[in-house]
Amino acid sequence: METTHHTIIIIGGGPIGLACALEAKKAGLDYLILEKGCLVNSLYNYPVNMTFFSTSERLEIGEIPFVSNNPKPTRPEALEYYRRVALSYHVNIHLFEKVIEVKGQGTRNKEQGTSGKELGNYKLITNKNNYTADYIIIATGFYDIPYMLNVPGEDLPKVAHYYKEPHFYAFQKLLVVGASNSAVDAALETWRKGAEVTMVIRGNQVGERVKYWVRPDIVNRITEGSIKAFFNSTVKEIRKHEVDIQTHEGIITIENDWALAMTGYQPNLDFLRMMGIHLSDDEVMKPAYDETSYETNVKNVFIAGVICGGMNTHRLFIENSREHAKKIIRAIKKSQK
Ligand code: FAD
Repeated sequence: METTHHTIIIIGGGPIGLACALEAKKAGLDYLILEKGCLVNSLYNYPVNMTFFSTSERLEIGEIPFVSNNPKPTRPEALEYYRRVALSYHVNIHLFEKVIEVKGQGTRNKEQGTSGKELGNYKLITNKNNYTADYIIIATGFYDIPYMLNVPGEDLPKVAHYYKEPHFYAFQKLLVVGASNSAVDAALETWRKGAEVTMVIRGNQVGERVKYWVRPDIVNRITEGSIKAFFNSTVKEIRKHEVDIQTHEGIITIENDWALAMTGYQPNLDFLRMMGIHLSDDEVMKPAYDETSYETNVKNVFIAGVICGGMNTHRLFIENSREHAKKIIRAIKKSQK
């Protein structure tokens, strides 16, 4: 397998990985993005009909205008935007190429590359190729690992942790677990297409972070009984045609065809550990990085986007983490002088 060298390798082709690429290009730095899925893979996997809570200008990267026909852009508009950005700016990206291992950690690797030049600090192994890089930017997001319910029956084919679109659930008995934006959107959409929806909600109310214009809709549907909701409840067991729900009145069994466990997602922190990046001792497990340069405790390894928040995935979004790109590239440029 041939080894190719790049000054910067960006792991993750989401909006923030792309923003880093645009800044690297502007600064005249050689870079490559390695993305394990399609372009902006997380956004591609969002529900087909989802609408962003941000207005389009707040999702812009590299100061490239994002024009939307709606007050809040839709998923297809965002896909179109990031695709056009990647195309117009000839972003150097390898898709469907997953970074499996990173070796090196700050010591110069004396291996000789195909060009005969000394290779960079880090060696990256993907499912397709080997690379070396002087700098690494990790922008791997948080959408790959769902929180599991850890109940019997979760592995049945009727249970999903990602929701795509409502038609499939029409005239079916659907269980939606969770009370945040993803759960609420799925419950409302599927109910509007004829599903008989039951929500299981751990707390005593619909999530506080539910989009302010959607919240009244779900609260009213629950109050009028169109969507049934069990509050202060958890799923106990899922079977082929039934679900057991643990409520404060004991276990209630309901008939059921499909279950959507919309209980959130977590970043792949093992990937950071593998690279020697320290995580805070508390439940947030925040990666150690310099707040100005975004360089981690591992020399020349930077971190960008939502992954900077560790397990706190509600702190950083596209709109408030796209600024990481400029700071990182500025720091890389400075370190080269
Ligand atoms: P991601 O977009 O998750 O990109 C990370 C990329 O890294 C992925 O493409 C992944 O495939 C890739 N990757 C991971 N591991 C590897 C590996 N080992 N090798 C190669 N590639 C890898 N934010 C807003 O600002 N406004 C909104 O309105 C908004 N709405 C949202 C609605 C929903 C339903 C959800 C779930 C999120 C929403 N967000 C919103 C949050 C926003 O989408 C994320 O914060 C954003 O995607 C973060 O960008 P990122 O580039 O850091 O991570």
